[in-house]
Amino acid sequence: MTDPLGTKPACLLTVVIPLLNEQEVLPELHARLKAATAGLQAPVELLFVDDGSTDHSAAVLQGLAAQDPQVGVIRFSRNFGKEQAMSAGLQAARGEAVVILDADLQHPPEHIPEMVTAWRAGADIVNMKRRSRRDESWTKRRAAGAFYRLINRLSDTPIPADIGDFRLLSRRAVQALNRMPERNRFMKGLFAWIGFPQVTLEYDVAERAGGATKWSPHQLTRLAVEGITAFSIQPLKFATKLGLLTALLAVGLGLFYLVRALLLGDPVPGFPTLIVVILMLGGMQLMAIGLLGEYLGRLWLESKQRPLYIVQDHWPARQFEASAQEGP
Ligand code: UDP
Ligand code: MG
Repeated sequence: MTDPLGTKPACLLTVVIPLLNEQEVLPELHARLKAATAGLQAPVELLFVDDGSTDHSAAVLQGLAAQDPQVGVIRFSRNFGKEQAMSAGLQAARGEAVVILDADLQHPPEHIPEMVTAWRAGADIVNMKRRSRRDESWTKRRAAGAFYRLINRLSDTPIPADIGDFRLLSRRAVQALNRMPERNRFMKGLFAWIGFPQVTLEYDVAERAGGATKWSPHQLTRLAVEGITAFSIQPLKFATKLGLLTALLAVGLGLFYLVRALLLGDPVPGFPTLIVVILMLGGMQLMAIGLLGEYLGRLWLESKQRPLYIVQDHWPARQFEASAQEGP
C-alpha cells in the first residue's frame, strides 16, 4: 500500500466522505460542499467513498460525478466499515490537505475554510471538537464519557475526548497514516499516535440531514473494544496482577485455616470457603483467558495480511486525472 501520488498533490484540498446508504442527503451535501469551498479559490476534489451502500447512493454518486468533474467515487464491494472507508479515501486523496467529513451533514461543510486557515497557519492536523453532545441520548453520552476515561487511563497515547472523525490532515500526516499497516484501524487513536502540530477548533454538531444512524450499540461496543486492545496492553498486565493478587490471597487464606485448624481443630467441613474460592478462581481464570483470546484473535487477524477493503469501482475525479497521470 503505497501513496499513489508520492509528494506531488494535484489539488489544494481533498474532502473525503465515507458513506453508507445516504441517498437522501447526497445532493444537498454536494451543493453545500461546493458552496463552502468556492471561497477557497482553488481546486477541491470531493472524494466519496461508498462503503457498500445497498440503496441508490451509488447511482446518485455516479450522477454527481458525471455532472461535476471534481467529484471522485470509490465504491467498496461490500460494507467494510467506516474506518476502512476513511483509509481508502486517505490512500486515494490527491490534495495537499485532506478533510474527512461525515455524509449526513452533521459535520457542517461551512467549517472547511476555517480549517484550511488553521492548516495554512502551520497545523498538520486540525481536530474538530464538538461543543456539546446534547443531540445524543443520555446512555450514549455516558457510554462515550466512560470510554474516553477508560482508554485514556490505559493507552500510552492520549486520545482526546469528543473529537470525532471530522478533521483536516496535511499531506505529510496523510502519508504517515497511509504507512500504518494494521488491519485493526481505530482511526481516532491513529490520528493521535502520529503526532505533528495539532490544533483543535470547536463546532456545533448539526442534526442528521436525513436517513438514520448506521451504528448499532453492538457496533459501537466493538469499536470501543478494538480501540482499547489496539492502543493498550494494560488489560493483559491487569490479568497478571489479578492472578498474582489471587495467589497471595490464597496463601494468606491457607495459612489462616492451617493455624485455625491447629489451634481449634476443624469442627465444620469447610464447604462455603471451598465453593467461594473455587468460584472466584474459576471466574478470574476465565476472565484472563478471555483477555488473552481477545489479543490473540487480533494477532491472528493481522497475521493473515488481508487487504483492508476491496474496491469494486473507482471513478477518479476527472478534473485531476491528467495531472495525476503525469507522474513525478
Ligand atoms: N458510515 C460508513 N460505514 C459504516 C457506517 C457508517 O461509511 O459502516 C458513514 C455514514 O454514512 C456517515 C458516517 O459514517 O457518513 C457516520 O455515520 P453515522 O452518521 O451513522 O454515525 P453517527 O453520526 O450516528 O455517530
Ligand atoms: Mg451521523
